[in-house]
Amino acid sequence: MATIRQLIDQVETRLDNENKNVNVAKVWMFHVVNQPPHLIYMMMDEELDVTLEKQFLEGIETYFDGKPIQYIKGVENFFGRDFKVNESVLIPRYETEELVEQILYRIDDYFEDYKEIDLCDVGTGSGAIAITLALEEARLKVQATDISKDALVVAKENALQLGADISFYQGDMLAPLQGKKFDIFVSNPPYIPQDQTIESVVKDNEPHVALFGGEDGLYFYRKIFQDVKSILNDRALLAFEMGFDQRELMEQAVKTYFDDEFEIIKDINGKDRMLFIYYHLK
Ligand code: GLN
Repeated sequence: MATIRQLIDQVETRLDNENKNVNVAKVWMFHVVNQPPHLIYMMMDEELDVTLEKQFLEGIETYFDGKPIQYIKGVENFFGRDFKVNESVLIPRYETEELVEQILYRIDDYFEDYKEIDLCDVGTGSGAIAITLALEEARLKVQATDISKDALVVAKENALQLGADISFYQGDMLAPLQGKKFDIFVSNPPYIPQDQTIESVVKDNEPHVALFGGEDGLYFYRKIFQDVKSILNDRALLAFEMGFDQRELMEQAVKTYFDDEFEIIKDINGKDRMLFIYYHLK
């Protein structure tokens, strides 16, 4: 039997030797032990139960085999809440928390006097965006779609677990939303250009249906721009996540379909990451 400290040390050394993220040892141990970090620090010299030791070491093996730690844990934190994740959904990214935050600011700026605000999230995946917005802003009536039935199973479970009241629909892009009208349209569509080289931990594990956006990465934006006006109210905000290298193509695409003001803003790393279109708003 080994102590928690010995197991962490042993795995940290191996992570370091293989040039992997050493934090993974603690992150995974905290998950396996299922106690808050401050308690675990006091338990460091206790021996870990053999079943948990086995679970810890087996999980680490799958990590060394190339599986993202978030899928091994089965959860990822987003905006302070734990979301269930599996191979059917993209792992929520920090950049997407910034998108949510920027949408909340704009709700204050443009929808202050609304009692109810209709919002849709197209391609919801784990539901991270839709659920967080619903929980952060009580006036939002949120509907979310995904083409993947398996993703919707995860999203529905997250909504139930986190207590968010959301209507989910399965279908391609805007198809399930026909006949409805929204004040806010949100999407983090697949935006990686088909031939772009990406990290193998992403490419080999995360759903390609959530990652790749055609030849130049903008396939889904153009589809949305073309069809979206029929499901927008007279004034509406459109909010998207986008790729860091898509500014020029994106500006062209927006101007092709809209006469409205829009802006592309950078994430915390200084990379172009979010697009807002102010449809009859400014
Ligand atoms: N941000 C993701 C990545 O770089 C891509 C997400 C997306 O295509 N919407 O892996």
